[in-house]
Amino acid sequence: MRIALTCTLAVSVSLAALATAQAQKAAAPVAIPAGIPAAAVPAPAAMPAPAAKPAAAPAPAAAAAPAPSGLPPAPKVAAPACANPNALGVSRTVEIDTTGAPGFGFEHFKQYDFLKPNEVVLTFDDGPWLTNTPAVLKALNEECVKAVFFIIGKHATYYPEILKQVAAEGHTVGSHTWSHKDLSKKSVEEATEEIEKGISAIKVSLGDTPAPFFRFPALKHPPEMVAYLGTRNIAMFSTDMDSFDFKFRKPEQIVSTVMAKLKKHGKGIVLMHDFQHGTAQAVPELLKQLKAGGYKVVHMKAKGKLASVQKYDDMVLKELGPAMANAKPIDSVVRTVGE
Ligand SMILES: [Zn+2]
Repeated sequence: MRIALTCTLAVSVSLAALATAQAQKAAAPVAIPAGIPAAAVPAPAAMPAPAAKPAAAPAPAAAAAPAPSGLPPAPKVAAPACANPNALGVSRTVEIDTTGAPGFGFEHFKQYDFLKPNEVVLTFDDGPWLTNTPAVLKALNEECVKAVFFIIGKHATYYPEILKQVAAEGHTVGSHTWSHKDLSKKSVEEATEEIEKGISAIKVSLGDTPAPFFRFPALKHPPEMVAYLGTRNIAMFSTDMDSFDFKFRKPEQIVSTVMAKLKKHGKGIVLMHDFQHGTAQAVPELLKQLKAGGYKVVHMKAKGKLASVQKYDDMVLKELGPAMANAKPIDSVVRTVGE
């Protein structure tokens, strides 16, 4: 999200508290070599921060391991089988060695040109969110497509069940800070807290840490925090094609923008927002047009597993309140016994 969202986001976020209260409740991997931390170039535009109060009760946090210097291997999780024989599907799965914080997305990072002509990576930011994220998941599921979701920590704590659905359906869960602050305007300490609390919030809400994949809010890359990600071996994601879906709103405009940019670039990482209603409406048609246009979807996964930092897990749990530490999975507490 960028500047244009200021008003919308403020409205959305105040609606969030309300909504939360009401609602709550492949192919063989191809290894990408790890590299030297990529140079960061700041992008224009600032970003407002969501600031609603969490009301949901996420799953309990397991004990966190301290940040390692290298990452242990990620467990292999089998993706659900594809029920649609004519689906767009995933043509290739790539495994990323995030050692040294490689950067992806040519808008800022040009080192790793790993996509072949007509290959696209779909990424969705700022969720999980009511209605819109489930709609995006449904569309992806119907075409057996896997994407990368960059999650806002606070949103994860509002809608842990939706986040669990993202992970259960085989998508890659990356992180996108705790509250979507522009880190270029924060001290190193504050920016570190934003990044780490974002990771811890996913751990607390999902019961598992995100992949070591991170996208800076508003694609602003302060050099100190780029260096910090290097110490944490977390890959950075910019984009090749920004859908500007927060600006266009109308689903047909979002589809035509992405398709026009793809035609021009021929391949790339597409940035969209599952947070946006227009995007949720656009994804089915976008997938249809990708298939008709002969594009192939590549799924990016991490080779290693990220550990959260106990100190920030504790901070998140403290903010969420004492009940959170004892929260159980929702289906073990609330069960439908009659309709
Ligand atoms: Zn964002």
